[in-house]
Amino acid sequence: SKVPSLTLNNGVTMPQLGFGVWQVPDAEAAEAVGTALEAGYRSIDTAAVYENERGTGQALTASGLPREELFVTTKLWNDEQGYDSTLRAFDASLERLGLDYVDLYLIHWPVPAQDTYVDTYKAFEKILADGRARSIGVSNFLPEHLERLMDATSVVPVVNQIELHPQLAQAESRAFHARHEIATEAWSPLGQGRGLLEVPAIAAVARKHGRTAAQVVLRWHLQLGNVVIPKSVTPSRIRENIDVFDFELDTEDMAAFAALDEGRRLGPDPAVFGA
Ligand code: NAD
Repeated sequence: SKVPSLTLNNGVTMPQLGFGVWQVPDAEAAEAVGTALEAGYRSIDTAAVYENERGTGQALTASGLPREELFVTTKLWNDEQGYDSTLRAFDASLERLGLDYVDLYLIHWPVPAQDTYVDTYKAFEKILADGRARSIGVSNFLPEHLERLMDATSVVPVVNQIELHPQLAQAESRAFHARHEIATEAWSPLGQGRGLLEVPAIAAVARKHGRTAAQVVLRWHLQLGNVVIPKSVTPSRIRENIDVFDFELDTEDMAAFAALDEGRRLGPDPAVFGA
């Protein structure tokens, strides 16, 4: 396939670009995921709380693609944290997806006030040992949460999926992840399509390369080494977002992007969310 893969810290390979399905209703998920698979995406990012694991799973089955060519991620929602409840929630996700295993299972948010992510991750280690997830990781963890998790458990998370886009470049988290061989996966890589794609400096880079703003933003991520999971339900955009492997940004372009970092979140603060 034209999408390069990253090798995770456990030796498993993961496509560097995948398809996210947050806010896609279950009834539309099969069509959107089907379009993405036809366009060449092989990695799909869903979550229990998105309530579209069934539609997603239907598209995976209907595609006829060999299971080993797919990379399926789902996530455990906050109110299912805890050892036993995690095992039950994972069974339910697998059932909805219609799969025997997922490629990656993530703790969706740390919810530090609840203080259950260590026990939750111990259940993830059991799921991994049982071969029902090929890899386990986390999402929205701050470095302090990762430190605590790694002190208390034995399997280093393969990825931390965090909000990351040119206006929230997350240099500190990326450096922390690099030191611990944790891949950085960017959620809302296009800034949710809200304003970011109209930023003049990005439009200028796009014009220079004869590409769209979304395409140059995705190039920026790929060249930083991030895994990206852009979302769209529009077929032309689904295809546009994966058509980013035949050009490169130069150092001047990367510098123009670096100047846009405002450290401003679109989503919640992981230190307090879910409390
Ligand atoms: P995104 O940054 O991928 O932006 C998606 C929006 O951008 C679309 O709805 C559309 O309005 C617009 N868009 C997409 N392609 C475009 C194009 N080519 N041209 C113009 N506009 C375009 O936002 P997202 O959906 O928030 O994030 C991507 C994925 O990340 C999600 O679907 C989900 O899988 C994941 N995610 C995870 C978390 C988490 O807490 N772990 C949180 C949010 C999202």
